[in-house]
Amino acid sequence: MKPAPFQYHAANSAADAAQLLGDLGDDAKLISGGQSLAPMLAMRLVRFDHLVDISRVADLRGIDRNNGTLIVQAATPDVLVERSDVVVASVPLLTKVTPLIGHFQIRNRGTIGGSIAHADPAAEYPAVAVALGAQMECLSVRGTRMIDAADYFVGIWSTSMESDELLKAIHFPVWSGRVGFGVAEFARRHGDFAIAGAVAAVELDSGNVISRCSIAMFGVSGQPERALSAESHLLGSSVGEISPEEVGRLAIADVESPSDDANMPATYRMSVAASTVATAWTNALTEAHHG
Ligand SMILES: Cc1cc2nc3c(=O)[nH]c(=O)nc-3n(C[C@H](O)[C@H](O)[C@H](O)COP(=O)(O)OP(=O)(O)OC[C@H]3O[C@@H](n4cnc5c(N)ncnc54)[C@H](O)[C@@H]3O)c2cc1C
Repeated sequence: MKPAPFQYHAANSAADAAQLLGDLGDDAKLISGGQSLAPMLAMRLVRFDHLVDISRVADLRGIDRNNGTLIVQAATPDVLVERSDVVVASVPLLTKVTPLIGHFQIRNRGTIGGSIAHADPAAEYPAVAVALGAQMECLSVRGTRMIDAADYFVGIWSTSMESDELLKAIHFPVWSGRVGFGVAEFARRHGDFAIAGAVAAVELDSGNVISRCSIAMFGVSGQPERALSAESHLLGSSVGEISPEEVGRLAIADVESPSDDANMPATYRMSVAASTVATAWTNALTEAHHG
């Protein structure tokens, strides 16, 4: 099938894109890498009278570190995130998750902001944003506002952005010291969205006590799920005091409404999730412990 007819607008700056969204109203949609939107248009799952293309907007691409924050502009393609020396030195969890997103061709066109704004519950970048407590910089004709990742994802393909707002950049806090990061996921085939997955971050003090930690799961419900009660059990414990399997069990107990469908019963999905949490946590601890 082909998309329904639309008018194409190439934005020439972030402000121009915000102005176009403001002027064109609800009949307009941004297109960035097009890796999610183009198939939805082609299958006529959605239709818009106007598409505003931000894929070539210079001030929406780029990666910068500003003291303790890594700022990634929204239309930066995944492949540039994957290969960035600044990213691996600042937020290595982004470097670790990117190769798990689809296939190379998808990462070549798909953008970090597109993935986060699209808010697929099984996507990797939203889980990283939630785990690390990223801030979303959103722009509209009314100005700029920051939204905490914890308040940004509100359901399947839904965010707390208004329809005339665009995601301008994502601000990731940089964790430093004796820190480690891990990711694990399970998908039926290489390149598929994960059935369930998890990311983990940990900081150890000099006595190998967990001084900071964060775990987020993806694919388990309508949005990325932070494992807050598992984290509170882990905080202040020594390495090895709580087994990875127990961390997995604690993490899935936090998921109030697990996804449940005919192809994938919630019990199976949750057991996969627990196992990915255990692996991601083990990998993060090993990295923090051995450097
Ligand atoms: C076969 C296949 C496998 C895939 N596997 C995975 C996977 O394993 N993991 C994963 O995470 N993703 C996967 N994806 C999705 C891929 O990562 C997409 O690139 C991503 O979800 C959307 O990014 P995009 O730049 O292509 O956005 P687009 O498709 O251009 O846009 C997606 C949505 O986000 C909105 N949008 C885009 N940019 C902005 C912005 N700056 N501000 C506000 N709204 C914006 C658009 O209006 C649209 O609604 C897969 C895709 C395919 C086709």
